[in-house]
Amino acid sequence: MDFEFRAFMKKLSQRGWLGMTWPKACGGQEKPGVYEYILNEALARRGCPQIGKGIGIIGKTLIRHGSEKLKQEFLPQIIRAEIEFAVGYSEPQAGSDAANMQLRAERDGEGWRFNGQKVWTTSAHFADWYWVGARTDATGKKHDGITVFLIPMRHPGLTIQPMPTIGDEITNTVFFDNVWVHDDYRVGQLGAGFGYISEALDLERFTMFTFSPTEQRFEELVEWICAATRDGEPLRRDPHVRERVAQLATQLEVARVLGLRFVAAAREVGGKPPTVEASEYKLFTTQLSQRVADSMMDLAGPGAQLRVHTKEAPMRGRSEMSYR
Ligand SMILES: Cc1cc2nc3c(=O)[nH]c(=O)nc-3n(C[C@H](O)[C@H](O)[C@H](O)COP(=O)(O)OP(=O)(O)OC[C@H]3O[C@@H](n4cnc5c(N)ncnc54)[C@H](O)[C@@H]3O)c2cc1C
Repeated sequence: MDFEFRAFMKKLSQRGWLGMTWPKACGGQEKPGVYEYILNEALARRGCPQIGKGIGIIGKTLIRHGSEKLKQEFLPQIIRAEIEFAVGYSEPQAGSDAANMQLRAERDGEGWRFNGQKVWTTSAHFADWYWVGARTDATGKKHDGITVFLIPMRHPGLTIQPMPTIGDEITNTVFFDNVWVHDDYRVGQLGAGFGYISEALDLERFTMFTFSPTEQRFEELVEWICAATRDGEPLRRDPHVRERVAQLATQLEVARVLGLRFVAAAREVGGKPPTVEASEYKLFTTQLSQRVADSMMDLAGPGAQLRVHTKEAPMRGRSEMSYR
């Protein structure tokens, strides 16, 4: 899987489809954000890997805040699809309250020594580099004592423990035991990390959550409704079903426009990602995706619980999978 994923990303790179919106000085093409948006949605619709954390989140944040050394080392590798990243913010006591992170980074000679733990790190089991927030100052306000670092994922002091989820995705717990990295791998200013993480999360809210798969599931639901009968009557004539479908169709158009609003607001090449538009888009599309999954389960009845690839399952079993 990892091999196929990387081979696919390399093809995207060879076609010049990675870094389309990056500044030319950083190896990009300075194209309007809508190019990346169309590409990502087309990839998501077909269930392909999308432009990813390197291009969509970490590269863009490094362009704004990274040192020249980090830009020269990482940006060309990201554009050529040679490296994958994992993102480490969450900890057992720092989920929604991400600023409460306690992973300690203590100054040690020319670098930093890390001890502590992260949870929910997706991709840690195959990534090359770890984009990590750590506490470099525990004395002041919690938001001011966080610094971002890049750590090689195969560092001998890192232990990666897979954590399978109910949604079939594997995420990981990562333990740090005296992990040392040179100060060159500190991103931006000491103690300014929470600001960089907030920007990176604005990018993540848009880049990593595409709208097409939800639209596709809705189309699958409508197709199923059009062919289904209940008590001998076509389901598509039921007024409650019609109302539900109309509401979802309207909300999908709202989601589409919220995505385009983000694209329009992110017009400046290498500019700060728009926070309000990113949050509006993410909140609405995530909740809409839940509403579509709920509707699939409600309307298709008990058969909707049959698992994907079951021959008799309505909507090819996607209802059960989406709901999980
Ligand atoms: C599949 C998956 C992949 C992930 N991948 C990554 C990753 O790669 N890197 C990473 O760093 N993290 C990752 N995460 C972590 C994710 O970002 C966190 O789950 C998220 O930040 C929420 O934190 P939590 O799970 O600790 O929930 P909590 O913060 O404990 O929240 C639990 C519930 O309480 C509510 N709540 C929390 N605080 C308040 C409040 N003040 N007021 C009202 N309600 C509140 C929340 O809305 C939620 O409903 C991943 C999570 C999942 C499930």
